[in-house]
Amino acid sequence: MKVENNPGNQAKCVCPNCPSYDECMEEKKELLFCSVGATACSMEQKGCICGSCPIKIENGLSSGYYCVSGAEK
Ligand code: SF4
Ligand code: SF4
Repeated sequence: MKVENNPGNQAKCVCPNCPSYDECMEEKKELLFCSVGATACSMEQKGCICGSCPIKIENGLSSGYYCVSGAEK
């Protein structure tokens, strides 16, 4: 299922609270990777908290680390 990139969904994304979310992502205001695709930053994988995100639950997403693997297909 495709996740819509809109302000409501952006506000629900918990990526900014994630240990893998770095300064580069913050500067680029990147969010909602499950919708928009992978990060342009060379981030380090320090864990993923998509499992606790309302977007993941509402949209029945099956995976995580969307900042690395790209949007949910
Ligand atoms: S599922 Fe992950 S990438 Fe998608 S909105 Fe939630 S925290 Fe962000
Ligand atoms: S997609 Fe997962 S690993 Fe990447 S920033 Fe969001 S919660 Fe963290």
